[in-house]
Amino acid sequence: MSRAAQRLGGSAARAVGAGSGVIAGAEPRYGNDATPVPATGPSDGGALDRLADELLGGIRERGTYRRMRVLEGVQAPRMTVDGRDVLLFAGSNYLDLARHPEVVAAAERGTRQWGCAAGGSRLITGNLACHEALEAELAAFFGREAALAFNTGYMANVGVIPALVGPGDVLVSDALNHASIIDGARLARCDVEVFAHGDVDAFGQTLAAARARARRVLVAVDGVYSMDGDVAPVAEIVRRAREVDAIVLLDDAHGTGCLGARGRGTAEQAGVLGEVDVLMGTLGKSLGSFGAFVVGSSRLRELLVNTARSFIFSCALAPAQVEAARAALRLVDAEPWRRARLAANCDRLRARLADAGLSTAPSTTHILPLVLGDNARTMAVCEALLERGFYAQGIRHPSVPQGTARLRITPMATHEPHEIDALADALVGLVGDPAPSGD
Ligand code: PMP
Repeated sequence: MSRAAQRLGGSAARAVGAGSGVIAGAEPRYGNDATPVPATGPSDGGALDRLADELLGGIRERGTYRRMRVLEGVQAPRMTVDGRDVLLFAGSNYLDLARHPEVVAAAERGTRQWGCAAGGSRLITGNLACHEALEAELAAFFGREAALAFNTGYMANVGVIPALVGPGDVLVSDALNHASIIDGARLARCDVEVFAHGDVDAFGQTLAAARARARRVLVAVDGVYSMDGDVAPVAEIVRRAREVDAIVLLDDAHGTGCLGARGRGTAEQAGVLGEVDVLMGTLGKSLGSFGAFVVGSSRLRELLVNTARSFIFSCALAPAQVEAARAALRLVDAEPWRRARLAANCDRLRARLADAGLSTAPSTTHILPLVLGDNARTMAVCEALLERGFYAQGIRHPSVPQGTARLRITPMATHEPHEIDALADALVGLVGDPAPSGD
């Protein structure tokens, strides 16, 4: 048992050991602790252990076993990952705002002013003036009537979708939409019609068929696809949805803060910022805090306050997160160089890899996939990259379709050009021939 696990003692220690088992051959450690994590904790032979062994055995066989890496240090382009000092190309803190002095100071101030917790759900005791201020600022930022904060993007989608559609209604959904949209539809118990990823014609046909049979039609797309880095054809989707009186939900978790001339995201870039019915964005990625929001009409806000169960039945965001997000929003306007440098870094990496014959298609944004296909090879390249001082996470099914395992590479605004070049050199060295073995 690792020292970190021992410190937890008793059953908590067993839980840590069991939950962090590894594929034979690898030797993950807790932080800088030299003790390898055991593959599986001791079994008491009970029903739960047998169930876990059976399910985890299947996951191991499919090569999709996951474990959590341990990171140390402040969120930054360079961090310690599993005890190794590396350049981070795996996060969603794209603009490097999570450690910005103004964001940190705002979080500290928020905690001092309001305490560490909101102390309840928004509809009971948790609606602090800072939540209302954040929402007013979000609405102004996007030039919309109103905003409502949610605790995460996941919770926004699983709250908003059932608030808008139910049994007999149809959700028209892109094939690569985020899991939280899929889960939102499950909770809504609506019908789901999936169209081929990013295909406007397929979208049009699916939309027409949905319109013909359902009273209410909700269209949901990601703005930037989180594992491919391509952008939804938002303008065309909004235009066609309007023609048939369908509602549009745009999940811009990854576009917020990064895309568009003023960082308002995918909808701004597409010229339809004022026309998306339900614009969802997150506070925990480029905005360097935690949480999420929906912006749109004040009637939408009113409806969600009264019906979105993930909003109603959950404790409100902590004041530190709220104040950090407010500071980050101001910085998106005050420091546009971050957006520009993020784009420049990504273009540089894209070009360096393309020169060496490595494609990051279909990405046009700050999320660059390097599709390797095979699960074991992808994870072997990920480990080899770590050994060379770079962290870009390997992504496998079910996060991406079978057979399309990839490295998901996410540069930050504050990586130096020479760091981008060093990553490109390491990738070219590893992904060219001979390929590292997956053993
Ligand atoms: N939507 C998309 C497209 C995402 O990529 C994510 C997170 N990876 C979410 C929603 C969920 O956001 P959060 O992490 O705030 O729950």
